[in-house]
Amino acid sequence: MEFVEQLKSAVDIVAVIGQYVRLKRVGAGPRYMGRCPFHTEKTPSFSVHSAYQFYKCFGCNAGGDVIKFVMEVERLSFYEALKLLADRHGISMPQRAEYADPDTKLRAALYRMHELALSLYRSALDSPAGAAARAYLQKRGLERARIEEFAIGCSDPSGQALTRVLQREGFTAEQLEASGLIMARHEGSGFYDRFRGRLMFPIHNESGKVIAFAGRALGDEEPKYLNSPETPVYRKSWVLYNLHRARHQIRKQDRAVLVEGYMDVIGVWSSGVEEVVASCGTALTPQQVRLLRRHSDKVVVNFDPDSAGVSAAERSIQLLLEESLRVRVLELEGGLDPDDYVKQRGPAEYRLRLDRAPGYFHWLADRARARYDMGSAEGRLAGLQFLLPAIQQVSDKLERATIANDVATYLGVEPGLVLERFRRSSAQRQEAVAGPPAPELRPVEKFLLRSLLASDEVRQQVLPMVKATAAFQQLATRRILEALSAMSEAGTTFSFAELEARLEDPDRRLLVGVAFDDKEAEATNPLVQALACVQTLAKEDREAPRSELKARVNAAVRAGNVEEALKWTEELARLDRR
Ligand SMILES: [Zn+2]
Repeated sequence: MEFVEQLKSAVDIVAVIGQYVRLKRVGAGPRYMGRCPFHTEKTPSFSVHSAYQFYKCFGCNAGGDVIKFVMEVERLSFYEALKLLADRHGISMPQRAEYADPDTKLRAALYRMHELALSLYRSALDSPAGAAARAYLQKRGLERARIEEFAIGCSDPSGQALTRVLQREGFTAEQLEASGLIMARHEGSGFYDRFRGRLMFPIHNESGKVIAFAGRALGDEEPKYLNSPETPVYRKSWVLYNLHRARHQIRKQDRAVLVEGYMDVIGVWSSGVEEVVASCGTALTPQQVRLLRRHSDKVVVNFDPDSAGVSAAERSIQLLLEESLRVRVLELEGGLDPDDYVKQRGPAEYRLRLDRAPGYFHWLADRARARYDMGSAEGRLAGLQFLLPAIQQVSDKLERATIANDVATYLGVEPGLVLERFRRSSAQRQEAVAGPPAPELRPVEKFLLRSLLASDEVRQQVLPMVKATAAFQQLATRRILEALSAMSEAGTTFSFAELEARLEDPDRRLLVGVAFDDKEAEATNPLVQALACVQTLAKEDREAPRSELKARVNAAVRAGNVEEALKWTEELARLDRR
């Protein structure tokens, strides 16, 4: 068997996609639903079919097999997706050079360089050169276990340590520069390390590979945090710090805790709250929010209490609401950031505060009151204006009405005014349509196609019979059946993805529509069902001349042509006598 087929038969698409998207089984059937990871939607229209090993979004039309999914969601090449799936399932992969295009090769080199950098930084922490970094970690009260767990290290101040290691390993100048870890000298030749004398935090992608670093200054030097630049393996806006460790727990607890910094993540993690992530050295982006939402639609925002933290929280909350997350805000008393709070008040206290964090609305309303003069009508209106974008995101009607009342009370404005603003804004909202659109197809065709998709036996026995009927030429599903037949005749192993790939767009949609429609139960015996469909088609063949004559009689009557009508009626009578 070809490796790709072997791999696809060894992995289950529901289990693989289930690691990225919260899936819910539809009834007891083969279909699962969730929110699409590829576009923004409020109601789930993303389906995964366990029998066909195929996913389809009826919102943005994304679809394919398990390899395509991994390529899209991890933004990998075909080869890299194969490798990731093979590694995860303990399947050894044949060394096939033709898979590796230049981009893939470069990315593989970059991953390797990051592994080498990680082990260098980690061992440096225990060397004499790591004294300052060790002192800093001790001052911050970081236990050894956390340092190991988060693979924290430090970079050599000389600026040559990593360059030497990577050059010794034979990486080319082009690869060194592309890594973002090494810089070329402006004048003359030669290279030096980007990170020098800093505390080093590795940044992982969702599948756990190191793709970048953040280096924290140990003294007062600027910048306080230096991050890897964007590289072929690192796109800042697509990465959340700690997601690869946290995602399991985010799903289990059905919530994520969003903090600002690396040390906050580690502090919150130490308190036993492992569902914690941070955006990496950027303001929160829509892509990061979508990463989160794949695992849970509930998030607690716990930013620093300083003014930069507060305005970052405002922007983040707006973004989270736009992507339909349910947001709570944790504000810690005493002006403490999460890391300090856990250290000073203890893990139990932090967890308690987290569980009791209020909905975002009250937090925002407090911001509005702090920002505008609630003593004047003008100020109250400005406050309302400030709150409106956030409230517009509330999709539940009843909840919206409740909040309308709250807002009015809170700001001291007319409830009518709030409601009127609501109505205006909610008129612009549009709800996405969920689920596969029901295909308009005669039942006989629907049943026939479904039973043909069920097994090789049905395809081999029934397809030739179907093609032998005259009715076949008129079927809406004719091109799908022809593709099935061509695959069957060529001895191609059947897969739903392969069939779908052979079709053009309207037929493609028809196929997926029929296959993902689970309103009809699966036939207990597809062969029997298929044969019954063939009977129906054969009957239509026999009745075709009669229907044709009937149509002519009707046409003649409508046209008022008595002579014609009589002629076709006689013909019809003759046919019935036969
Ligand atoms: Zn989609």
